Amino acid sequence: MPVLVMKFGGTSVATLDRIRRAAKRVGVEVAKGYDVIVIVSAMSGETNKLVGYVEETSPLFDAREYDAVVSSGENVTAGLMALTLQEMDVPARSWQGWQVPLETTSAHSSARIVNIPTDNINRKFGEGMRVAVVAGFQGISPEGRITTLGRGGSDTTAVAFAAAFGAERCDIYTDVDGVYTTDPRICDKARKLDKIAFEEMLELASLGAKVLQTRSVELAMRYKVKLRVLSSFEEQSDEAGTLVCDEEEIMELNVVSGVAHSRDEAKMTLISVADRPGIAAAIFSPLSEAGVNVDMIVQNISEDGRTDMTFSCPTNQVARAEQALKAAQDAGSINFHDLVADTDVCKISVVGIGMRSHTGVAAKMFKVLSNEGINIKVITTSEIKISVLVDRKYMELAVQALHTAFELDKAA
Ligand code: ASP
Ligand code: MG
Repeated sequence: MPVLVMKFGGTSVATLDRIRRAAKRVGVEVAKGYDVIVIVSAMSGETNKLVGYVEETSPLFDAREYDAVVSSGENVTAGLMALTLQEMDVPARSWQGWQVPLETTSAHSSARIVNIPTDNINRKFGEGMRVAVVAGFQGISPEGRITTLGRGGSDTTAVAFAAAFGAERCDIYTDVDGVYTTDPRICDKARKLDKIAFEEMLELASLGAKVLQTRSVELAMRYKVKLRVLSSFEEQSDEAGTLVCDEEEIMELNVVSGVAHSRDEAKMTLISVADRPGIAAAIFSPLSEAGVNVDMIVQNISEDGRTDMTFSCPTNQVARAEQALKAAQDAGSINFHDLVADTDVCKISVVGIGMRSHTGVAAKMFKVLSNEGINIKVITTSEIKISVLVDRKYMELAVQALHTAFELDKAA
């Protein structure tokens, strides 16, 4: 029988009532003839609570025990979902990660999936079980310890199961009804997309659209898993939600499909560093060792053998970046006149596969911002994305203006 993977996020299993509602939806797919693999998150708020317990007990916790504790929320919802299905006379049982076994690396709290053997679950399907309810977010290391896949990891569990079982589709049930052209809280003209290409979704996810864990999109792209994002709170038709798919499946590619923003950016500039071979390595190696997540990098023109170097990083890493750079200055590996941090910026990006074949997208973006009197501080581009840093007070204005200019507004 064809296999379908259905993943329910924390808000979709937050109460027994909601678990019943989700189970009903599973029952509909079973009635259509699918064998279903259900992946569940923990009840919403549960994982945060468990992380809090760990941190309060042991600030410098043993990551293996962290995983033992924070993976437990999913065990509860997996068992409850299986019980609920059984109450509806749907043959179901639950599986914890280690029982599958979902094999991962030993990188506790951010483990990667290595292998998902299908024989155990397939044998049960062969014996008449119709639904395998699997606890998301967790697996087992080569050492036999419980691991977790990083926050939001159940999305990745779901896609990995869809790939391993050759599922027809992977439906991600969440509290929004799909992927939007931009954040509807910032722009009331935001429109739900019917389809979005993997690469665009990947850019949007890494730019801070929180619908899907970035790694789940990477995995779906690699294994060509058809991913659908939809709400568990609305009546569903087969066209509901947003399909994340191969670009070939999208008839008309938009030049720009979405406008993303990230509030949490800081711009740091090293003023007057020696412009010599190795200087970028001398600056960015200590930053990377300190765990600073550098995003944009600009080296300015050089005069008299000295140059300014600007980069961006998350606001909460500014102190760490300053510390690392000052230490490098003290050790003599770099020499700058000043280090200036601007924490009042945000990043605005336009994303679209159509950019590959259309010229003038950057020019148009800059013109729109200039018409609004918004000054651009840093620019970077990739094949399908243009990002700028601007003052944070312009965030809403910039998103709204770009959304309109690139014809993304919903029909009035
Ligand atoms: N429960 C985990 C978390 O909150 C994993 C997930 O829900 O995807 O991050
Ligand atoms: Mg999630």
